[in-house]
This record gives sequence, C-alpha cells and structure tokens, in this order.
Amino acid sequence: MLRLTMRLPEWIKIPAADLHQTKNLLRSHRINTVCEEARCPNKAICFSKPTAAFMIMGNCCTRNCAFCSVSPGTPEALDPAEPERVAEAALELGLRYVVVTSVTRDDLPDGGASHFSSTIRALKNALPDAVIEVLTPDFCGDAKALETVLNACPDVFNHNIETVKRLYATVRPQADYQRSLEVHRVAAAMRPDIKTKSGLMVGLGETADEVREALTDIRNAGCDFLTVGQYLRPAKINLPVVEYINPEFFEELKAYALGLGFEFVASGPLVRSSMNAEEMYNSVIAL
Ligand code: SF4
Repeated sequence: MLRLTMRLPEWIKIPAADLHQTKNLLRSHRINTVCEEARCPNKAICFSKPTAAFMIMGNCCTRNCAFCSVSPGTPEALDPAEPERVAEAALELGLRYVVVTSVTRDDLPDGGASHFSSTIRALKNALPDAVIEVLTPDFCGDAKALETVLNACPDVFNHNIETVKRLYATVRPQADYQRSLEVHRVAAAMRPDIKTKSGLMVGLGETADEVREALTDIRNAGCDFLTVGQYLRPAKINLPVVEYINPEFFEELKAYALGLGFEFVASGPLVRSSMNAEEMYNSVIAL
C-alpha cells in the first residue's frame, strides 16, 4: 500500500474522450446520470460505448454522504413522466444493459420504490431484451419497499455497502452498516432468482482486515457480484483520500472474495459499481 500521496499514482489514469453526443441526448430527455453527478472517473469509457447509469428522482439527495458529490437538500416532487423518458433515452442510445440508480429519497413514504418499479417496467416495455440493473438506496430497511422493486423483476439488484463498518459514522453518517447488509439478506431471501451485487470503496483509511471482514459480511448476506474500487475525492468538500491502494492489493482482494464464493468480482483502482456491468453479468449468465 502507498500512504497519503497527494498526487494520483501512476497506475490511476483518468481517461478522456469526447462525450458530447451522449451528453446531448441525455440533456434532451432531461435525464440525470450518476456518471456526471458523482463525477465518475470512467465517464469517458462508459459514455463512448455508449452506456450510462441513469439517476432517477432528481439530483438532490436527502442524505449527505461525505464521499459523494451529489448535492444534499430537499428534492423536488417526483416527475411521473420520468420512467418513460428514461426508457426513451435508453432506446435511443440502443442500450443492451441499463443501470438505474437514484438519490436517496427519505422524504417519500416508500423511499421511491414505486418510482423504481415504474422505471423498470417502462424499460422492459421499451427494450424487452435489455438486462436491467437497479442500484438502490437502503429504503431505510423497509422490506415492503424492497419487495416493490423486486416485484418489477430487475435482472440485477445492487446495493452498495460502500465502506467498512468502522467508517460508517464518518463516511455514511445517515446510513447503517447492518441495515445495508440486511437489505442484501432480504433481497436474496425474497428473490433468489435475481442476481444481487454490492460495491466497496477503499482508500478511506480502512485496514486490510476490515476490508476482508466487510467482504465476508457481504457474501454472508447472500450477495452474488462484487465491485471494489479506489475512492477518489470528487471535490474539495468531500473526504480526502487517505491512501492510494496498490493494484496488487486489489488482485489479492479479488482472490479473497472469489474464495468466499462471489460469482464475479471486479477489483481494481478504477473499478466502479456500474462500470462493465454488462460484461460482469454476461460472463456469469453465459456459464
Ligand atoms: S445517499 Fe447516495 S446519492 Fe445520497 S449522498 Fe449518499 S451516496 Fe450520494
């Protein structure tokens, strides 16, 4: 591991590309993407495929995670036309794999579960052959809300654990490590036919043993797919990077996680939750 480096190490290279076409199309449909809102370093790769992780229910979040660049505050009312707009944009982009995520909407009675459900159904109507992955908030642990999402039959249900147990209070102060694990337990028990996925960031000051403990907890909660990536500070107001983790350690984590029984593991400095999601899904389903 490499400690407290202010500059990016040589193994982290942020790709650049011309993103106008995808950006313009998303703007014309008034669609937010987590790729832009969260300042994802892989935006150029994904947009050039083209692929994008749609972010529904606005770009203002009721929580304020210290690693995230999405604006906190009071979100606007839900737009009932948004599910159709997302489906139209996905159709126009010719997507075969669609990722839908959202801000956290603790202001809504069901946390936005029915809006997720409507979006999944609109996508299935528009693109019956596409694979649909949802990356959801924890719905405050509401099993009924989870059921609403799962009943719309996404192909992959994703909920990120994000960090190790000890760091929740600073990294995700309004979330709860056990509650997020419970989301996975409930999803796996409710719909064993739907693949589940989770992700973890490293470089926030966690120890190697804490990471291994988190991977074990996630796997024991019934999760099938895992992503592990380097935390990169999206803006000055966010938590600083404590450590740039060597690529070798990502490889070690991958081997460790596969040994725990995960069906697929993507682990590397620039791995992000939605990046190469299609390749991950297809490599498992084709087995
Ligand atoms: S809940 Fe999600 S969108 Fe909201 S601040 Fe946290 S990471 Fe960002």
